[in-house]
Amino acid sequence: MESKKYGLYIGGEWIETEESIPVYHKYSGKVIANIAKANREHVRDAVAKAQKVFKNSSLTPFRRYEILLKASELVEERRKELEVSLAREVGKTIKDAKGELDRVVNTLRISAEEAKRIGGEIVPLQATPGAENRLGFAIRVPRGVIGAITPFNYPLLLTAHKVAPAIAAGNTVVLKPATSTPIASFQLVELLEAAGLPKGHVNIVTGAGSEVGDWMLEDERIAIFTFTGSAEVGKWIKQRSGLRPVALELGNNSPNIVHSDADLEAAARLISARSFHNAGQACIAVQRILVQEKVFDAFTERYLAFVDRLQVGDPEDPNTDVGPMISEKEAIRAEQWVMEAVAQGAEMLRGGKREGAILHPTVLTRTTPEMKVNCLEVFAPVVTLMPYKTIEDAFEIANDSAYGLQAGIFTSDLNIAMKAARSLEYGGVIINDVSTYRNDVMPYGGIKNSGLGKEGPRYTIEEMTELRMVVMNL
Ligand code: NAD
Repeated sequence: MESKKYGLYIGGEWIETEESIPVYHKYSGKVIANIAKANREHVRDAVAKAQKVFKNSSLTPFRRYEILLKASELVEERRKELEVSLAREVGKTIKDAKGELDRVVNTLRISAEEAKRIGGEIVPLQATPGAENRLGFAIRVPRGVIGAITPFNYPLLLTAHKVAPAIAAGNTVVLKPATSTPIASFQLVELLEAAGLPKGHVNIVTGAGSEVGDWMLEDERIAIFTFTGSAEVGKWIKQRSGLRPVALELGNNSPNIVHSDADLEAAARLISARSFHNAGQACIAVQRILVQEKVFDAFTERYLAFVDRLQVGDPEDPNTDVGPMISEKEAIRAEQWVMEAVAQGAEMLRGGKREGAILHPTVLTRTTPEMKVNCLEVFAPVVTLMPYKTIEDAFEIANDSAYGLQAGIFTSDLNIAMKAARSLEYGGVIINDVSTYRNDVMPYGGIKNSGLGKEGPRYTIEEMTELRMVVMNL
C-alpha cells in the first residue's frame, strides 16, 4: 500500500510544509499517509483566502444545489473506495463504513435541497402605530468564513455535516480535521470541487488541535465556529470564541432503558447491534443499559447471545462487526476503566480482552453510578447493564449525567413512551430504538456537556446564516 502525501489545501493550492505528521492504518499500524503541519501564517493565509473567495463568490442558491447534488452522485460512484479508505484510516469496519457513506450521501442531498429553501420573512411593521409608510422584511445572509473543527470517529460524515450546509448557505470554510483521520476530509473536498465547487471555498489546514485550532480561534475574520468533539475542547472553544456564535456537538454516556413491557427480543437485537459499532466510538453509542429488574435476567440472556455472535478483527473483512479503536493508547485507557470498575466490585459478563488497539466487546454489570464506565464518556466497546425498579427510577438514573445528547427507551406502553419524551433530559429521545438512531434530517444536538445548537442541514444553515432586517420608508 503506497503512502500518500497531503499538503495544506489553501485557496485551491497544495502547500507543502517542512514538518509532516504520519497517518496510520489503524489495524496494521503501517503509515498510509503523511499530512502537513500548518503554522500560524498558514492558518492566517487560509482564512484570508476564504474571506476573499466569500466576498467574490457568485454562486447562486441554485448553483449550490447543483454542486451539492452532483457531489452526492460522485460520492455514490466512489463509495467502495471511500469505504475501504475509512476502514484503513479509522479502523472502522466495512459494515460501519457503509452506514457512514449512506449518511454522507443523504447529508449532501438534503443540503442541496435546503440551498433552495433559504428564504426570509415579511415583518409586519405596520402592526405598530406610526409605521404607516414602512415595509419590512428579514433576509437570511451567509455569515462569511466558517471555522470547522472535526473529530476522528466519523471523518467523512462529520466533514459533510459542516461543509455541505456551509456551502448551501453561501459561506466559505476553513476546516481542521482530526490529525489521526484527515484523509476523508481531503477526499470530500476533492469530490465537491469535481462537482463544480470553485477552488478556495473550502480550505484545509492540518496539525495539532491545540495549535492550529487555537490559531483559528484567534483569527477574528472567522465569523462562526462549528465544532464536533470532546466536551473539554468544546468548552475551550466557547471560551475563546468571544461574541462569535459557536455550534458544539460534544459527547454523551447514552442511557438505553428496557422496560418490563418491552419486546425483549427486539430490544436485545437492536441494542446489541448498536452497542459496539465503530468500536463504541460514537457520541451516541449505547453506554448504560437500564433494565427493569423483573426482566433483567431474561433481557441479559438474550442480549449476551447476540453479543456472542459479534465477529471481532480486521475491519476490512466484510464480516467483521468490531474492529480496532483509534489507537492502542485509547484501548489501554478503556481497558483500565474496565479493570478499575471490576476492582470496585463490577462483574464482567463478557469481554475485557485487549489485543493491541482491539478491545473485545465488554459487558459489565453490578456497576455503580460513580464508576468511570458509567459517569464519564467511555468511548469504547464497553457497556454497563443496570437493573431498576420503577420507570421513575430509570428516568432518574438516566438523567443523573453530566451529558444530555440522546437516550433510548423500549416500551410497549404509550403513556410511558410519552412520559419518557417529557422526562428524559436529552436533546433526542428515541422510542423503541437505540440512542444511536440518527437520521440527517433531524435537529440533532445536546444539552449540558453534550453541547450547544442543533445540527442537520436545515438547522445548521440557520446557524450559518444571519437574519438581516431591511426597513423601507416608502
Ligand atoms: P477532540 O475533542 O479530542 O478533538 C476534536 C477536534 O478538536 C480535533 O480536530 C482536534 O485536533 C481539535 N482540537 C483539540 N484541541 C483543540 C484546541 N485546544 N482548540 C481547537 N481545536 C482543538 O475529540 P476526538 O477525540 O477527536 O473525538 C471524540 C469526541 O468527539 C467524543 O467526545 C465524542 O463524543 C465527540 N463526538 C461528538 C459528536 C456529536 O455529534 N455530538 C459526534 C462525533 C464525536
